[in-house]
Amino acid sequence: MLIVMKPDATEADIRRVLDAIQTLGLKGHPMPGAQRTAIGITGNQGAVDPSPFADLPGVAECVRVSKPYKLVTRDLRPDKTVIRFRDTGAEIGGREFAVIAGVCAVESREQTRSTAQAVAEAGCRFFRGGAFKPRTSPYAFQGLAEEGLKILAEVREEFGLKIVTEATDEPALDLVEKYADVIQIGARNMQNFSLLRRAGRARKPVLLKRGMASTVEEFLLAAEYIMAEGNYDVILCERGVRTFANHTRFTLDLSLVPEVRRISHLPVIVDPSHSTGTREKVIPLARAGAAVGADGLLVDVHPYPERALCDGPQALLFDMFREMMGEVRAIAEIVRR
Ligand code: PEP
Ligand code: MN
Repeated sequence: MLIVMKPDATEADIRRVLDAIQTLGLKGHPMPGAQRTAIGITGNQGAVDPSPFADLPGVAECVRVSKPYKLVTRDLRPDKTVIRFRDTGAEIGGREFAVIAGVCAVESREQTRSTAQAVAEAGCRFFRGGAFKPRTSPYAFQGLAEEGLKILAEVREEFGLKIVTEATDEPALDLVEKYADVIQIGARNMQNFSLLRRAGRARKPVLLKRGMASTVEEFLLAAEYIMAEGNYDVILCERGVRTFANHTRFTLDLSLVPEVRRISHLPVIVDPSHSTGTREKVIPLARAGAAVGADGLLVDVHPYPERALCDGPQALLFDMFREMMGEVRAIAEIVRR
């Protein structure tokens, strides 16, 4: 159930409703908006009886939720969620088109530093780099683990970039939470429910990538797992799904962006790198991501991709990356006005 408060409801009114929810052994999730606050209720197995809340001061209405998800929906929060990093002014989901760019995997300090410099000089505020890599083959490079996280932390200090990095399991998440600004959950883990719950207890925003065979509903329910634990800062990322098409690594499903927009208040970004798998397709699909109304992009860049230990063929060279930035900025400027 969803409890919609009146526009003039006070903090005390909201507190009283939350206490009443807690008394029933349930969890209340207040979502303040521009017009009013709504409170989502989770923890119930069946329907919640509205009568304990309906006549409390400040309550406008109690709404039954018929959809499988509650906290991700625009019913709860009509305004878009904007994830803000107050110290640098960076944000995801706001006016600015947020490009998260960097290496697929942190391979060395030199490789990471030179890429971060190029990313910062192009005006990006976010840097990506994997220290824990989910690899198809057990013999492939698995990442530098904590040593890689330390390199990422150095890069944050030097260039003022916010760090986005993946946690592949719960012990990795414990470490990633310490070093990163945004915790990435990869496509292969989109339905790792214990990992999602752990991410929901983290106090950092979570970038959740769509599973390669997941429907929009499954994707949103994965986000719901994180939010149900009390972490409302979730960014969704479309990274391509498996289809019969074999001219690209995955098929980038750009129609997910307006569909998520219709249902959810969460920011949604597009990954033209992991979806296509080849460099020459990255810029055209990055442009398409900006044009379809995404809140940003996730892009692989590498100083010498021919020697990359992971995903070299899709990594943009620095000059291509600069070209892409100019193009997507111009498109996003028109779309986001
Ligand atoms: C990545 O972003 O580094 C990655 C492994 O992507 P995905 O989980 O989408 O395959
Ligand atoms: Mn990669």
